[in-house]
Amino acid sequence: MSFQVFGLPVSRGVAIGRAVLVASSRVDVAHYFIDEDRVEGEVARLRVARDAVADELTTLQRDLPAEAPAELSALLDVHLMLLHDDTLTGATKQWIHERHYNAEWALSAQLEVLARQFDEMEDEYLRERKADLEQVVERLLRAMARGPASSFAPAPGVRPRDFAGEDPLVLVANDIAPADMLQFKRSVFTGFITDVGGKTSHTAIVARSMDIPAVVGAREASRIIRQDDWIIIDGDAGIVIVDPSPIVLEEYRFRQRQSDLGRERLARLRHTPAVTLDGERVELLANIEMPSDAIAALEAGAVGVGLFRSEFLFMNRDGELPGEDEQFEAYRAAVESMKGLPVTIRTVDIGADKPLERMSANELRHDHALNPALGLRAIRWSLSEPGMFRQQLRAILRASAYGKVRLLIPMVAHLSEVRLTLEALARARQQLNEAGRTYTDIDVGAMIEVPAAALMLPTFLRHFDFVSIGTNDLIQYTLAIDRADEAVAHLYDPWHPAVLGLLARVIAQARAANKHVSVCGEMAGDPDFTQLLLAMGLRSLSMHPSQIASIKQNVLRTEARRWASHLEAILSSDDPQRACEDVSRLLSPGRRAVTATAS
Ligand code: PEP
Ligand code: MG
Repeated sequence: MSFQVFGLPVSRGVAIGRAVLVASSRVDVAHYFIDEDRVEGEVARLRVARDAVADELTTLQRDLPAEAPAELSALLDVHLMLLHDDTLTGATKQWIHERHYNAEWALSAQLEVLARQFDEMEDEYLRERKADLEQVVERLLRAMARGPASSFAPAPGVRPRDFAGEDPLVLVANDIAPADMLQFKRSVFTGFITDVGGKTSHTAIVARSMDIPAVVGAREASRIIRQDDWIIIDGDAGIVIVDPSPIVLEEYRFRQRQSDLGRERLARLRHTPAVTLDGERVELLANIEMPSDAIAALEAGAVGVGLFRSEFLFMNRDGELPGEDEQFEAYRAAVESMKGLPVTIRTVDIGADKPLERMSANELRHDHALNPALGLRAIRWSLSEPGMFRQQLRAILRASAYGKVRLLIPMVAHLSEVRLTLEALARARQQLNEAGRTYTDIDVGAMIEVPAAALMLPTFLRHFDFVSIGTNDLIQYTLAIDRADEAVAHLYDPWHPAVLGLLARVIAQARAANKHVSVCGEMAGDPDFTQLLLAMGLRSLSMHPSQIASIKQNVLRTEARRWASHLEAILSSDDPQRACEDVSRLLSPGRRAVTATAS
């Protein structure tokens, strides 16, 4: 029976495909596809784990003290029975064979299926056996973590060849950590749905960077959608339609084709310079997560990288962090791919919704932070790991010998952080000099994403060559709204007059000080804000490559000066969004449509 689930639209477009459920809230395991020739190895890992758990349970049972209640032994019998039941391990093997899931994923997928069957049982005693099943699965997962590790690295790009024929796949999860999202980045999914998350959570950001429709904060989605259900994701409206009727399916297929055509038309603007109707040149830059994204950035017509989120290099590594040489190679690859265009590398922004797994003592502290968004993240984290910080700075400096590199520091709030950062940079330079390594002079910029930094901008500007406004965090910290929490997502409001006021002020002050200013938060790639940002005097915006064409189209249609003359009215309005729409209507009636010109 068809039904709908509602969430937050975070990445536009329509996706149609079969549901692949991952990452249950019950168990937290890695999910990745394996290559054909790894299937038997993965099945063997499962077998070894099952034998180990069987030994464990048998030993437990044998060593039960005489006074132990008889129920305990009976319970262990139930666990042993579940362990050997074909519906658990047999079916798990099938997930591995047929869908090429890694063993942990296969096991958790099967747990999901069985747990639902238990939930639907009439008999209360049988229903309660679900907890036993979960315990057995947990034992198996722990045994796998202890036992022979997967002898190969996750293969994110691997297609599950024999799976579901040629049907497109849609990922459904309770939550997807940004690290997992990265795994799926070059994978097979045509859309994403998660139960939790906000519009600017990093999971949503990575989904947008993949340019595939996504809905987050869909609450119960992963509980009520079943493996293999047909799903439509309406990424514009934030609606998920499960098991759609043929008529609805046809309507959405039509919309999908329309939106593909629209994208193709926009893509023709790729090499058109972004200049407003009144001749203002606007720099459209790309946000990237991995060096390989630089290719998409160039293809989209970006004139540089405005934000390389370097922390993604630190993820999915089982706690082993990339050393200086490995980082250097990654930065160099990005810089060389951009063929002389500038690449702005941000030092790691670890923490908040991008934790590192199993790392240092600091990281453990972070994991248990009551309020991670306010805790040890970004530059705070880097300064608490001075050796690692200098290592990263050296790697970035070294990459500057291969192209135009800019260094960006996230989340500065205190002048002491500025001083320590510049000292670390000076020390990194000195170490490179001593080692005889080459590097060039690079511009150093600060991200303005904490209200304290925005409010004391002139002081910060004395120490930096440029600033880049991180609106995602600036909104989060100005409005005291956790950007990753769907429960307060309705209060996360980029149109809030306080946010717009801060933004306008930072742009104006940076320009007055003759310092380059850019916006690299999600607002930069949101077409609803292009005119307003231009009216504020912004001439540099950094966004996902997939958003560049539609922002460019907006730039081409805007008269920046006429918009600027309405800025005060918009900023002082109780409802800036409405005021902005009014100005838009006022300035557009005679607008000549800018048609995409083929390059
Ligand atoms: C921001 O905060 O706007 C930003 C660009 O950084 P991130 O989204 O990675 O926190
Ligand atoms: Mg930020």
